[in-house]
Amino acid sequence: MNRPFRIAVLPGDGIGTEVMPEGLRVLKLAAARHGLPLELQAFDWACADHWLRHGRMLPEDWFETLRGFDAIYFGAVGWPAVVPDHVSLWGSLLKFRRDFDQYANLRPVRLLPGVRGPLAGKQPGDIDFLVVRENTEGEYSSVGGRMFEGSERELVLQEAVFTRHGVDRILRHAFRLAQQRPRKRLTAATKSNGIAISMPYWDERVEAIAAEFPDVQWDRQHVDILAARFVLQPERFDVVVASNLFGDILSDLGPACTGTLGMAPSANLNPDRRYPSLFEPVHGSAPDIAGQGIANPIAQIWSAALMLDFLGQAPGADAAAGRAAHDAIVAAIEQVLRTGPRTRDLGGHASTREVGEAIAAALGG
Ligand code: ATP
Ligand code: MG
Repeated sequence: MNRPFRIAVLPGDGIGTEVMPEGLRVLKLAAARHGLPLELQAFDWACADHWLRHGRMLPEDWFETLRGFDAIYFGAVGWPAVVPDHVSLWGSLLKFRRDFDQYANLRPVRLLPGVRGPLAGKQPGDIDFLVVRENTEGEYSSVGGRMFEGSERELVLQEAVFTRHGVDRILRHAFRLAQQRPRKRLTAATKSNGIAISMPYWDERVEAIAAEFPDVQWDRQHVDILAARFVLQPERFDVVVASNLFGDILSDLGPACTGTLGMAPSANLNPDRRYPSLFEPVHGSAPDIAGQGIANPIAQIWSAALMLDFLGQAPGADAAAGRAAHDAIVAAIEQVLRTGPRTRDLGGHASTREVGEAIAAALGG
């Protein structure tokens, strides 16, 4: 690819506006060092201020404006004192995910040095896996209804939707990710011993898609025991792929097992690259600590690493450079976690900016 990657920057609200400058600091530095040209453009939408001025979270032409970008680098949205959370969320982030068909949600799970995780006896390196959640269909459909409301016979029905298209594309993406990792292993979450129609179908498709990836070693685990093994034997996992509901739960449980839910990054990918993909910290805008400059910027910075890795894999781009930039950022985060400085949530006294600068310095900036 001989043009710069185009990145739309949306800091959002609260600590989103505080961690974003640190994310950008590290993003620009890592991209420059690894020869990945970027073109950044900031937008003041998707925030409470835009809502106050215009009565909506996004301008009318947001789709056309953003669709030509390669990625959206997002902070955090939500300021409940001004606009209710469901309005700000559905009016921005969830629109991006849906209209840009970001069907793969990725959450890396990694035990970081110097972070006290809840699992005893684990060393950094023991836990290093990736949860891949289907993000567009499955159990989160609005198909269904109520009958006999208010009576003793009240009945509520909600369907799950699994399409060949939707299932195959998430499985293929997960297998491809497994193929790129050193261990080349994949675990598919299922529950075909209890959910008698959709999950056996999911299992069938796992088997069919697995045949396209003979070099990936894979297995299937029922989601109940799989969840238990996140806690008991996290070393077993490399890439874990799951339907929307199971993936939702596993992608919170995973980072919780490493004590990093508050530092967790996420990617919402449109792997076909027809539309921009979105990279954001898992945490919200944290109104309780906003304005103090004490938020931990690691989730925002780690999200930049995911973005460079994904961008590098575009056809004609430099996948090795993207991967190297990713690895360098993660290594710099780990170094600063070992040596400090640290923000208050990790028991330190450093500011958001001090941690961002330290990570940039560790990167050699
Ligand atoms: P959601 O955004 O999912 O609706 P929420 O707004 O309750 O949930 P957050 O904004 O993530 O969740 O905040 C949850 C708690 O974690 C708050 O006490 C907040 O201060 C803390 N927290 C979140 N992100 C950070 C961060 N980057 N650094 C330090 N503390 C954080
Ligand atoms: Mg919130």
